[in-house]
Amino acid sequence: MILKQKIKSSSEIEAEFNKREAYFGLPFEVKFCKKCIISNQRPNSQIEFKHTHETKKQTIQFDENGICDACKVAEHKSDTIDWDEREKELIDLCNKYKSNNNYYDCIVPGSGGKDSFYTSHILKYKYGMNPLTITWAPHMYTEWGIKNMESWTNSGFDNYLITPNRKVQRLLTRLSLENLFHPFQPFQFGQKFLAPKLAEKMNIKLIFYGENQAEYGNKISDLSSPKMDLNFFSSNEINEKDIFIGGVSVPELRKRYGLTEQDLLNYMPIETKKIIENDIQVHFLSHYLKWHNQSNYYYAVKHGGFVTSPERMPGTYSKYSSIDDKMEDFNYYTLGIKYGIGWTSYVASFEIRDGDLTREEGVLLAKKYDLEFPSRFENDLYDYISIDPKEYPLASKNFEQPIVDKNYFMDLHDKFRSPHLWAKNKNNEWKLRHTVWEDKENQKFKNINTDDEIKLWKGNIRKDSNIT
Ligand SMILES: [Zn+2]
Repeated sequence: MILKQKIKSSSEIEAEFNKREAYFGLPFEVKFCKKCIISNQRPNSQIEFKHTHETKKQTIQFDENGICDACKVAEHKSDTIDWDEREKELIDLCNKYKSNNNYYDCIVPGSGGKDSFYTSHILKYKYGMNPLTITWAPHMYTEWGIKNMESWTNSGFDNYLITPNRKVQRLLTRLSLENLFHPFQPFQFGQKFLAPKLAEKMNIKLIFYGENQAEYGNKISDLSSPKMDLNFFSSNEINEKDIFIGGVSVPELRKRYGLTEQDLLNYMPIETKKIIENDIQVHFLSHYLKWHNQSNYYYAVKHGGFVTSPERMPGTYSKYSSIDDKMEDFNYYTLGIKYGIGWTSYVASFEIRDGDLTREEGVLLAKKYDLEFPSRFENDLYDYISIDPKEYPLASKNFEQPIVDKNYFMDLHDKFRSPHLWAKNKNNEWKLRHTVWEDKENQKFKNINTDDEIKLWKGNIRKDSNIT
């Protein structure tokens, strides 16, 4: 399960590239949505605690006209859903659960980003709920992330902050990077599992998340229910051998890496029967109120003094989304390496669907920024995931190079570049075989100089754009 055993010889890598094998179960033929710029390589959310090196991904579906599921959800939101009716459903739900004794009546998980701020604030101040906000601490706070966290509680909320044992989390993050190239996975475990566990302990029956992942490409049928699928955060039976963290089974984490039951408690799902017996409901606010990312940002600025990142995030033009954890830079970067979809492609795609950007603008922004290396916090990352033998006498023995530096991180990339997506050019540099700006349907973008083009822009809007 570790790098030491997985290194491939250069001839094996070359053979795979010649075959253009598709890793991770990705579709061999790369297509880009005709409305947004997402490609058909985008994996859907999956049950992370079953994720191993062998897992085959389910990916976003495209219809016969080349339109992705997320764009169809956006159309459905604009054309079909009666939002007044949905708001009535929200009011009914709130009335059912509203506290009569000043105790908390719902939990809103989050980190004080624009979405959790909006969700908790509107539930409290418009719909009269008394939410407890809870936070599973980011790996490495950014300065502006901490400010936003403070603004959140300053705007009228109690917050339970659980900060994980960093010694454990750093080791799990290192394993997730080595085995899955997914440095965010251990954080996501805590983030998904914390709310239902606290709800059970504190006897709070209702949990509100912001948006349903179907907004970004999970299957459209997920939208039919206002509730999160129980399988994402609970398990019928907790069989340790079937639970994987960082691609390593729990028994192996104990035996080879010296982790204890206590160390792994926060990373284990809750038993489904506890959710059912306690009648804990996990709802998405986006089912009831039309979700619009930029509006949430403006709402959080207006009501909480939300601050953006002082500079655009590496790999994207955006400054307002996924900004509280230094690890986000690497999360999006690794998605770019594995699936050929950089941070710009994700952000531009939802902004196109939301009507805040045109597709042409999105294509040019992707050409300019997608897959830029996230150098601003790279030393923080290398320190975070280094497994010093003095600190980790047993676990460090499993790594070929316990202390991470840039060379090591760069070498790790190549194992995760799927041959059907990546090739080396004449100068021995890695290039994507397919990009949205070189797509045959976008030939007009091929020769555009993005540096000149970018001067035409003001913020996210091109000066000659029709969008106001
Ligand atoms: Zn689309």
